[in-house]
Amino acid sequence: MLLRRNERSKFTSIFNPKNGCFVRVEDSDSEEPFWDSLGPELVDISITNYCEYSCGICYKKEKNKHNMGESEYNAVIDQLSAIGVFQVALGGGNPNLHPRFNQFLKYAYSHGIVPNYTTNGSHLTNEILLSTQQYCGVVGLSYYFQDNFNELMLEFQRYKIKTNIHIVVTPKNIESITAGYLQQDAFKSANAIIFLRYKPKKYSSGLSECNFSVGNLEKFFCAVDRARKYVKIGFDSCFVNLMINFLTVRKELVEPCEAARFSCYISEYLRMYPCSFMENFDEGVDLKEMSIMDCWQKSSIFVNVRDRLFLNDCTPCALFDLCRGGCPIFHSEFHCKNIA
Ligand code: SF4
Ligand code: SF4
Repeated sequence: MLLRRNERSKFTSIFNPKNGCFVRVEDSDSEEPFWDSLGPELVDISITNYCEYSCGICYKKEKNKHNMGESEYNAVIDQLSAIGVFQVALGGGNPNLHPRFNQFLKYAYSHGIVPNYTTNGSHLTNEILLSTQQYCGVVGLSYYFQDNFNELMLEFQRYKIKTNIHIVVTPKNIESITAGYLQQDAFKSANAIIFLRYKPKKYSSGLSECNFSVGNLEKFFCAVDRARKYVKIGFDSCFVNLMINFLTVRKELVEPCEAARFSCYISEYLRMYPCSFMENFDEGVDLKEMSIMDCWQKSSIFVNVRDRLFLNDCTPCALFDLCRGGCPIFHSEFHCKNIA
């Protein structure tokens, strides 16, 4: 069990690296913490922008292929280990295409940080699966309606690798997901199904690209409700305002966006952001010029996102404590008005 105590804000974060169980507990005489000044608990790291596919729903802009260097990655992990970060989520691109992927998993693990990763399922060699089994907490397998999805799930099961299925939900595919995909046996064998809300590549891309009809949402959340009888279900923070309006969940299990509060993102170019989806809109902070801790505590991009989550035009909403206005980046694109 790993513990991190924030004496100033009077709370303790507890993480079990064996089963991934995580809780944040405030002292009995204290408020729920808004952020952790001691640094992030979880860090997303893009180790390559390369992926052999070009899915329309992917937020990564087309760029020249770029891999994070091994010495750069190790220096990032050294800093995160000193901060007491519990987990890193390696992504990309397709992270297992990085030529030093196995070494990256091992380096994080040997520095007391649990590495997880998200993959499209291609190029998973025996060596990668063995490293995953040895060092990783959980693998996120992205579901793109691919033909070999069942075989991929069986392969992970053969290696006893805990697998979450990641599904990006868009206004275009929500009806297909609702119509029965969740009943497949492969889905039932997953550790959990995680729904990710589709994010646009640019601002003001039009409400229709990001927003769902109320009818489709009702059917979708009914299907999710049925599915949660046989598999654990999770949502990314970007789903929060939809989830709390359509699903009955214990409020202890709902966490508003954690960007710049408990999590952050580092790109393959060593630039740090509150969230990976800011990469297309902002320069981020160059980690060759600033330490991770200074960026976390003092950089304007982090302070601004925290300010936006602390107080915004949603503050009068009765659900504000659970939601904090949804997404600080796509606040207006993710139209809410309490889903009227
Ligand atoms: S009005 Fe704002 S705080 Fe209320 S549910 Fe919608 S996005 Fe969340
Ligand atoms: S900043 Fe927006 S896109 Fe990023 S995790 Fe938070 S809710 Fe999601």
